[in-house]
Amino acid sequence: MKKVILIQYGELTTKKQNRNLFIQTLYTNIQKALGDEKVFIEKNRVRMFLIVQDESRMEAVIEKLKRVFGIHRIVIAYQSNNNIDELKKNILQVVQNLKFATFKVETKRSNKQFPIPSMEFSSMIGGVILKNIPGVSVDVHHPDYTLKLEIREKFTYIYGEEFAGAGGYPVGVQGKGMLMLSGGIDSPVSGYMAMKRGIKIECLYFESPPHTSAMAKNKVKDLVRELSLYQADIKLHIINFTKIQESIYQKMDPDYMITIMRRMMYRIGEAVMKKRGAYVLINGESVGQVASQTLASMAVINEVTHVPVIRPVSCLDKLEIIEIAKKIGTYDISILPYEDCCTIFLPKHPVIHPILEKAYEYENRVDYSTLIQEAVDNMETISICKNTSSEKFKF
Ligand code: ATP
Ligand code: MG
Repeated sequence: MKKVILIQYGELTTKKQNRNLFIQTLYTNIQKALGDEKVFIEKNRVRMFLIVQDESRMEAVIEKLKRVFGIHRIVIAYQSNNNIDELKKNILQVVQNLKFATFKVETKRSNKQFPIPSMEFSSMIGGVILKNIPGVSVDVHHPDYTLKLEIREKFTYIYGEEFAGAGGYPVGVQGKGMLMLSGGIDSPVSGYMAMKRGIKIECLYFESPPHTSAMAKNKVKDLVRELSLYQADIKLHIINFTKIQESIYQKMDPDYMITIMRRMMYRIGEAVMKKRGAYVLINGESVGQVASQTLASMAVINEVTHVPVIRPVSCLDKLEIIEIAKKIGTYDISILPYEDCCTIFLPKHPVIHPILEKAYEYENRVDYSTLIQEAVDNMETISICKNTSSEKFKF
């Protein structure tokens, strides 16, 4: 029997006016996620059918689909002809391979020429299963397994194994966001959560060579590579932050170093975001996690920007963030011990309640607008995509 993959859409079915955009975006994202796999895709308003040319690639295709946002459920369906005796035989063949104690049958008869009404057909097939598979019984309320049958014009689809999809909205339907990506645990998780809401991300990384190493930079590239399983092809922008950071180190009160440094990151973030046509900044700040993330600190840091800032993990516990990081495969990379530009000049007592006027006072000691412009002008951009293992450089 021929197998097809059936994809049921996620939340997008509720968004009527945007449905076409959602389906088209999902379709494109699936094609990109599948890369070189030879798959024929047919889409309609409620779902997609995928025919995998080489059935031995089925599992690999399903693994890739599990990471595409906007998919609610992935079902392997078996295509049988509509001859009733053959149908019974084919259904048994599918069901025999599954493990369950209780079951029910649901039939959807789109083909009204088919001679047996849905309810009748369901109970007929239920009888066939009871007779041929020992030890199983019917439970219409809480079955272990629901056998779904869909009778269409030429074929009947017998639903077999089901897999949960990634949920959310197709990446891109909400436009673009700029993710401030450090090598830590929180910001990749924030990127994942933003993508899940349909935001197409580009990443921004601040490095301070020679104080930060090539290893630290490679770690960030590896994180982007993992995230690219959810959004094929992600742009990583790298800002050289050395001059700004050194001037902060030389000219500021040590307690305010982190506050000022983060204000600089936000200023550059906003400039890059606008340059790249993104609507929002995204970061991995989490309330109370470190001195720069008390509400008082966040207010003084945020003061430099006039664009929306999304902080997806702001109200999650560290353990909750770690759980997501492990699930999406970024955790093991994040915990590699390479220095970040935030940590190298770490003061002993970073201020917890910074005062805005003091930040102004310190910032007046240096001509930052020139340094910021220079950093943005010299930004390096790389495209990273895990599925094709490519890394393209652009300047
Ligand atoms: P993470 O928050 O990713 O675990 P972290 O805890 O080391 O890393 P923080 O010092 O908590 O980072 O910084 C808060 C947020 O600021 C980060 O989540 C990230 O969004 C942004 N950020 C910090 N350092 C950098 C950097 N070097 N490049 C880009 N963004 C950064
Ligand atoms: Mg953090």
